[in-house]
Parts: sequence; C-alpha cells; structure tokens
Amino acid sequence: MTTTKIMRSVFSIALAVIVVFTGLKLFPENASADVPYKLSGVAHVQDQGDTPGTFDSTTGELVLGTEGLSRRLESITINFENNTGYEGTIEYKVHVQDIGWMDWVEAGGAAGTSGKAKRLEGIYMQLTGELANHFTIQYWVHIQDYGDSQGWVSEGQLAGTTGESKRLEKLHVKLVSTDQFYSGTDCLLAYKTHIQDVGWETSWATDGKCSGSTGKGRRLEGIYIDYVGTKYSGGVKYTTHVQDIGWQTWRTDGELAGTYGQSKRLEGIKIELTGDVANYYDIYYRVHSEYFGWLDWAKNGEFAGTQGMGKRLEAIQIVLVAKGGSKPGNLEGIKSDAQVPCYPCDDKIIVCLDAGHIGKYNKSPSVPEYYESDFTWKFHLYLKEELEKYGIIVVLTRGDQYESMGVYERGQAAQGCDLFISIHSDASSNTSYTNPSAYCCINGSADKIGMQLAQVISKDMGVAPAQLYHRVGENGDYYGVLRGCTSVGVPGVLLEHSFYTNPNSAKWMLNDDNLKKLAQDEALVIAQYFGLA
Ligand SMILES: [Zn+2]
Repeated sequence: MTTTKIMRSVFSIALAVIVVFTGLKLFPENASADVPYKLSGVAHVQDQGDTPGTFDSTTGELVLGTEGLSRRLESITINFENNTGYEGTIEYKVHVQDIGWMDWVEAGGAAGTSGKAKRLEGIYMQLTGELANHFTIQYWVHIQDYGDSQGWVSEGQLAGTTGESKRLEKLHVKLVSTDQFYSGTDCLLAYKTHIQDVGWETSWATDGKCSGSTGKGRRLEGIYIDYVGTKYSGGVKYTTHVQDIGWQTWRTDGELAGTYGQSKRLEGIKIELTGDVANYYDIYYRVHSEYFGWLDWAKNGEFAGTQGMGKRLEAIQIVLVAKGGSKPGNLEGIKSDAQVPCYPCDDKIIVCLDAGHIGKYNKSPSVPEYYESDFTWKFHLYLKEELEKYGIIVVLTRGDQYESMGVYERGQAAQGCDLFISIHSDASSNTSYTNPSAYCCINGSADKIGMQLAQVISKDMGVAPAQLYHRVGENGDYYGVLRGCTSVGVPGVLLEHSFYTNPNSAKWMLNDDNLKKLAQDEALVIAQYFGLA
C-alpha cells in the first residue's frame, strides 16, 4: 500500500470541523485576531480581464472571480505573505479547456491562460515546506451548473471537474492550522517522511502505519514526529543519522529531523518519549532499510537502522505500546490504544469491496429470479477470490448479505485501502438500456480504473458502451458510499453492471459461469492498474 494515500481526509475534515466550531488554536487570545498570513490575487475573468480578489483577514479567506454572471475564470494568480513562522509556500495547478492539466505554479505566478478564451475546469492546491507540517490549504470553487455544491476540498483533492467541460467561475482559498486537530484526537503519535522523488507525504501516518515506501528504492530524507495524545502530558524526541552528516542533535515534538532538498539519505534513527507519557507507554519503531528490508523492532531510544554502511532508510513504522507490553507483531499485531484500524504495513494493495444492497432487494421486473442484492453479494465474493490471486488484500464492507450498514459507513470502511468499489446493477423504466456505468468520486481519483472496469463489463456482457459519471450532491459526492470513501482519502467507484431491467442482461447475470469469467476479467484490470499483472 502506498502511504501517501492514508487517512488524509479524515484529518482534514475533522480539522475543519474543530476549527469551525472552536477556533481554539487559530485565535487563542482574541476571536477577531487576524490569521498569520495574507493572501491577495488576481483572476483573469471572461469579458472583464484581470480582476483583483478580496481577502478577509479574520477568516483568512481569499475570493477570486465572480458569481451569477456566468463568466469563466481563465487564469488565477495568488500572492502569499507568510507570517506563520514556518518556511514554505502555496502551489497550485489548473485544468484548462483544450489543454488539460498544466504545470504546478508557485504563489505569485499565474496558472491558466489569458486572451485565449479558455475556461479553467479544475484546480489542485498544496502547501510546501515546513508550513505543510502545520497548516493545510482548503479551497472551494463555483462550478457551472453545479454551483457551490462541491464545497470545501482539502489539499491534494480536486476542486472542480475534468472531462465535463464545465467552467469555474469563482474560487475561495484559505489556510487552516492542523496543530489543533492533532491534539484533539485519540491518536497518540503522528509522523510523516520526506521521500526521494516524492517529497513530503501529504498525510500523517499514525499508530504503526507505514510512512515511506518499500520495494521502490527510494530513500527517506527527513521526518517529522509529533506526540499528539492528550491523556498524558509529554512529548517525543528523536535523532537521525544522515548521510555525510552523521548523528544530528535531538529534535523534539514535530521538529524536522534529517533534511530535505539536499538528496541525503537517512540511515538510522532513535526515538524516545519524554515527560509523563513515558511512564505509561513504550515507543516501538522499526525501519525498512536498503538491502536488509524490515529490521527488528527497537524501543525507547534504541538504535534502528545502520550506520557506516551507506544504506538508506526507506520506510518506518512507529507505535506506542502500553508500558511493559509485548513488542508489536509484523502486521495486524500493531496496535496502540488509539481507535484507528490497523492494516498490514507493506506495499500490498488493499481493495475494499462493497455489495451494493442488503437482503432480498431490487427484483428484476422482467426476470423474477433476479435480485440485485443476490447478484452484488455473489459477485463481490467472486471478485474477492480473483483479486486475492494477484496478492491483493480484499476488505469487505459487510459480513453477510443480511447485515445492515449505512452507506457512508460502508465507504468509510475503505480507510487505509487503495480503492473502493461498490457493486451494483442499474435500473430504468426503459428496458432497452444496457450500458455499464462507473459513477466515480467527483474528485476524479477513480476515473481511470472506473472507466476501465465499466469497459470490461461492456465487453464481457456484450452490451452498450461504458459510461463514466461524476454525480455531485449537496455535500460533495451524491452517493453516500463515495462521500464515505472520499472522507478517508480513498478513490472510489460505484460500478453498475449493466441494467437488471433489461431481460438479456438480467439473465446473463444469473449465470454463475458468466459472473466468474467477469470477476476474472475485472480482477485482471485492477491488477494491471496497480502494476501487479
Ligand atoms: Zn444498486
């Protein structure tokens, strides 16, 4: 599993909620205090040219563009005055009509075009440097036809659309402190690493999760570790052995250890708890070292890694264990008392499968033996079996066909996975419809695999061509399962296997041999997507 995907959105969303309702850390003394940064900017707007934005220094929000005038944004420029005390800046890239994704642009630069009458369609934004360790960037766009319905999205998520030819009209941008979030949760320790060629991970690992990568030959260059528990006072200190530098001085509570931007590998690390929390927990950590692979667990300041051998660290897991408890196991044995599910920490791909309906549900009007719920249950088990042949780990949302579970929770069950698929077959009063459909997360994260799956269904079933949809609701994705998986940072697709209202399709899906063959072919598509076949 690639670690950059883990758990980012849970954090951002919980963070947004906490900040909105308490505002504690952002404005500790005075509720009307200004945010520690200033944004200004210019949008190139259809028919009116360069148009300055407005900034509210209390909410920290910059607004660019227009609303109610149906005028496309053609380019944006955002200027960032950073008074946070943390080095770093804002970067953004835009998806432009007829051009597609353009390169990342740093704050102060223009993204998009002017004088070419091309609309902006989508935007990604991110923070860089140590700033990213303490803040996240959130942004919100007004989209042609969809209006404001997409709402705020966080760093690394798509705002707007691609492939739908819809113009952006307005953009809101703000930074939100993430320090407050971490101290308000049950998790005890958070860490993230700077990876060769990848950069800083966009999300924090917690509770034994893998930070870094294995099997890709990429060195770790820097690491942040922060004690974020609230039950006991205390903190964490750590030191790293760095190429050409040797042991650095001890760092504490979220300070940078190692380097970045200097292409120097980490080779070893020592970590200790400090203060009261050290009386209640042992801190265990292990590293994935070049050539050796995973080394044994070290604890409480012991040395992990190598020195004098020129071997890079590639990944790390850190976990707190109740004082005197046994050392963590290799996989699921890793658990602190945080309420976070633990997943195997290696580069295995994890796919979450969801049988779309419960019990006996959605009987076909034309083929009475066919129930959509029977099909989705049977088929997702076949697909699981086929995926496991490629070494993919499969997580199911429900334990049996009659177990009830909310749609949002089913999506959230994908936490820690690489992909979420909800299995369905479609219905219409028009019994001639047969096309398979991939309803993909509106952030675009599953478009490619969604379309590939819908296409293989179309081919195997011999039905109308596949279609791909983004369906926007009031709070993001229209479908609860897709809102759920997006909330835990997992790409998701609701996959409609043709229409059970079409007699031929319903009959086709009643045949086990057909389903087994289709499961094989879908599994192959997924395995190829993840580079496993
Ligand atoms: Zn359905």
